[in-house]
Amino acid sequence: MSSYHPSDNELQQYAMDGTFAGDELAAHTQGCAACSAKLANYRLLTRQMSVMPKPAFDFDLAGLVLQQLPAPKAEFPWIAVLGVTLTMIFLAAISLLFGSYLVQLLQDLPALFATILAASAIAVFAGMLNTMIKEHHDQMKKLDFN
Ligand SMILES: [Zn+2]
Repeated sequence: MSSYHPSDNELQQYAMDGTFAGDELAAHTQGCAACSAKLANYRLLTRQMSVMPKPAFDFDLAGLVLQQLPAPKAEFPWIAVLGVTLTMIFLAAISLLFGSYLVQLLQDLPALFATILAASAIAVFAGMLNTMIKEHHDQMKKLDFN
């Protein structure tokens, strides 16, 4: 019996992948009882580890993360209110200054042009409504987990 004994790393590699070891290691493990026992143990460990169930969290990870998140702030939309107010003031000023001219302009509008304008507005509105309904149905499908 030679004084050579493979290291634990070599035996573990041999247990996991028999092709890794050289002929010398394979021959030694057949002749040496101690190394043969170690190799058998490593093979058993490798086999058992391959059939073990995958580790999984046994707690609600999403719930714990959500608890750590700051509560969403419900800020008053000052910029939107300012924008709407300025727009309304602008439109009121326009209608006060040019109101009589706008009414005259609408009355003088040719009937065909007014019809085309109304039809275009209705077509755009119908298209937007159709898109909104499709998006709504798509989102409801995503929420339906059954
Ligand atoms: Zn040995």
